Amino acid sequence: GGFQSLGLSDDIFRGVMRMGYKVPTPVQRKALPVCLLGGDVVCMARTGSGKTAAFVVPMLEKLLSSPNNTYQGARGLILSPTRDLALQTLKVIKSMGKFTEIRAVPIVGGDGMEKQFEDLSNKPDIIVATPGRLAHHLLEVPDFNLKNIECVVYDEADRLFEMGFASQLRDISRTMPEGRQTLLFSATMPKMLVEFARAGLQDPTLVRL
Ligand code: AMP
Repeated sequence: GGFQSLGLSDDIFRGVMRMGYKVPTPVQRKALPVCLLGGDVVCMARTGSGKTAAFVVPMLEKLLSSPNNTYQGARGLILSPTRDLALQTLKVIKSMGKFTEIRAVPIVGGDGMEKQFEDLSNKPDIIVATPGRLAHHLLEVPDFNLKNIECVVYDEADRLFEMGFASQLRDISRTMPEGRQTLLFSATMPKMLVEFARAGLQDPTLVRL
């Protein structure tokens, strides 16, 4: 059960090897095959478990495998509770996606709006965002929408809710298309999160360690 047995495309396998990962962590071993199938997944995983690769690899694979002729908007979205986590995840995407054409941009609080308008107008494939700033762009920018999202990740979902982003998360998730894949990663499963998953995910597979 190493990375070579997952059937990854060559360019992504090379990206994983470039990270120096030789043996998958337990969460990667359990979650990667399930997430790669394309359905919704709820994964109980904590910080430091290697969860980032468990959702970045399937997202990159999904975007590589689906046709993308004319740009109509970002196709991947990762929601992070903090700016630091978002920027850390962005680095992993850039590193793992180095041998692909896939491009990712950060839309996080604390950065200038002008740079973000520019980043969004440069046709990114993936947006790594904090909910407050993303919701702000959705309200303020007429041409910006999430109608083309094929895969969305709620990273550290319990913290997303603890930080008071519930209403932004509902606003954001309402604007994404029905057939998207949703991956929800969380260390804990408070009641609010169970309800959010029940309302927004389709027949999710639960991955526990
Ligand atoms: P994460 O939980 O995704 O933030 O990962 C925690 C740390 O483990 C990061 O420094 C990763 O680069 C590292 N890591 C993740 N997966 C692996 C792996 N399969 N082999 C070695 N290190 C890894």
